Amino acid sequence: MRDVTTAPTPVDLDVQPTPLALLLLGREADPRSERGVECPGDLPAPSDPDLVARARAAKERLGDRVFVLGHHYQRDEVIQFADVTGDSFKLARDAANRPDAEFIVFCGVHFMAESADILTSDDQAVVLPDLAAGCSMADMATAEQVAECWDVLTEAGVADAVVPVSYMNSSADIKAFTGRHGGTICTSSNAERALNWAFQQGEKVLFLPDQHLGRNTAVRDLGMSLEDCVLYNPHKPNGGLTVEQLRDAKMILWRGHCSVHGRFSPESVEDVRARIPGVRVLVHPECKYEVVEAADEVGSTEYIIKALDAAPAGSKWAIGTELNLVRRVAAAHPDKEIVFLDKTVCFCSTMNRIDLPHLVWTLESLADGKLVNRIDVDSETEKFAKQALEQMLALP
Ligand code: SF4
Repeated sequence: MRDVTTAPTPVDLDVQPTPLALLLLGREADPRSERGVECPGDLPAPSDPDLVARARAAKERLGDRVFVLGHHYQRDEVIQFADVTGDSFKLARDAANRPDAEFIVFCGVHFMAESADILTSDDQAVVLPDLAAGCSMADMATAEQVAECWDVLTEAGVADAVVPVSYMNSSADIKAFTGRHGGTICTSSNAERALNWAFQQGEKVLFLPDQHLGRNTAVRDLGMSLEDCVLYNPHKPNGGLTVEQLRDAKMILWRGHCSVHGRFSPESVEDVRARIPGVRVLVHPECKYEVVEAADEVGSTEYIIKALDAAPAGSKWAIGTELNLVRRVAAAHPDKEIVFLDKTVCFCSTMNRIDLPHLVWTLESLADGKLVNRIDVDSETEKFAKQALEQMLALP
């Protein structure tokens, strides 16, 4: 089995950069997810030929005081410095298992660093190398919007029957809302278990913030119909729903999505099947329902990595998830044909904000005794968010 967590030479996956992807990359074209934050210090120039040596030296100076986490969707230039790689929940747990580390440097996005802060002790500092690295999906559900939604459900007379289930990809505020109302967090690996549990506690689920994961799990895994699901649009009065619709629905899906996985279409699947006879299409459950239906397999990032590790030599795969991961996994398995599902680039623009200059600046600042970019969730939010996370850990 090859290790996909190290940084191999990128392979050419026959994809073309789109002007949109380049525009989004750190140009504040997406201020909601980039949070409009400039780096508060002097970033080294990206052209500095000593960046790798500087990162290595700063990390060595810090020794065991620092623990660097790298999400699967991070760039190779950053992943090479990660002590551990994984999806957001695995990384938060890994951080909690290193209570001796004074600094947890999270190479990922804002909500992930919040989760790590919730699960680590107060005397550990969680640091996000670029505060502008948000997540467009997490930012599609704000605390105010979700509180208003709960008022709508209360006025419709259904709130008592509703159990909130929130995807890990949500802010600490939304996790706390979930804990306050007796719900649970889920990941893309345990969403089915979370929904089964929730339907034992109540008659309806409010699923936040990813409509696609909610719909895919409810319909494909729990056997509901598409008509059992309604879409709550926070930008419309009463979510754009009537009282009858809210009373009849089993799944109330928040109108949020991942801008990366939302770009795959059934046409991408058709196209790759025509180009590569015998290809197996494997997609992430954040993809649209029609895409998941058209695919051969669906699974979380960890599932995708394991499936490709276990696939026989010579097999052909088209993968529908973030491009940094697909490139790494393809380079780790030269004996298999692994292509990216779409013809255009699908990087996560905010994940990509964490680059080598930001990592060098962060590590050097910490080594010089300057705590920068700390992510600190307040204790009240932390208490209820932790309750929802612990409920997930206790899922049957
Ligand atoms: S890939 Fe999608 S869900 Fe993940 S951080 Fe990027 S925008 Fe958010």
